[in-house]
Amino acid sequence: MKRFISFSGGVESTAMCVLYGKGATAIVADTGSEHKKMYERLDYIEKMLKIYHNDDFELVRVKGKQVVKGEVVDSLTDYILRSNFFPSARKRFCTARFKIEPIDDYLSKQGPCKLLIGFNADEEHARTGNYLKCKNVYYRYPLIEDGYNRDYCEDLLEELGLHPNFPAYMARGGCKFCPFKSKKEFRAMVHLAPAEIEECAIIEKSIQDSRNKYFRIRTNMPPLSQFIEIEKNNLFGDNSPFYSDDYLTKSCGPFCHR
Ligand code: SF4
Repeated sequence: MKRFISFSGGVESTAMCVLYGKGATAIVADTGSEHKKMYERLDYIEKMLKIYHNDDFELVRVKGKQVVKGEVVDSLTDYILRSNFFPSARKRFCTARFKIEPIDDYLSKQGPCKLLIGFNADEEHARTGNYLKCKNVYYRYPLIEDGYNRDYCEDLLEELGLHPNFPAYMARGGCKFCPFKSKKEFRAMVHLAPAEIEECAIIEKSIQDSRNKYFRIRTNMPPLSQFIEIEKNNLFGDNSPFYSDDYLTKSCGPFCHR
């Protein structure tokens, strides 16, 4: 039976690729709106794990295709710009359309197969989700089944030089403009990935309605263009009211960890 690994670039999914990757295909949904660091990591992990598994490992990138106003788009950024509609906690179409659907679509064509999902042994409660949909797919949780917890996965990756060690603006990976990013992550982007946060500010601005009343990417932050200007002069975090993290929501599961 073919074996697939749900890969997000993070600690658990990378550990699965090490532990169970020989002969397997890792699968990642690329929203087209990931950070540059994530694209670099995908290339790096693919290269290193091919070496580690004697070329018996593959990383497949899938992309969601959606029709918006008669045009096919294959990135979340293009979807947002064309539909003038931004994902939020209440309308979280991004995960469904650009993470879950493309993976389900790919797997549904693979015949009987297994999908290994990277919840660790401390996350037993997390086994449910809206990704368990394909009738031909046998969903497995090998880290839970084999008792590998987060610490074990972290140590394994540190030892092999495969730990993600993402920068502060990617505490949990995810799209550049993810509305579930913390304010601290957006702040870190100002200082560490200025070109990327400028892109986010342009997207936010381009979908304002004519009254300029569209909600912000983060409702309790100023518009990103202002936020950037404030933060450029706030290297030590003196504007502390912006940084309480009061916008946490339920995780979207194993595909984007948001
Ligand atoms: S990372 Fe954020 S914006 Fe991207 S798909 Fe997940 S929830 Fe949506």
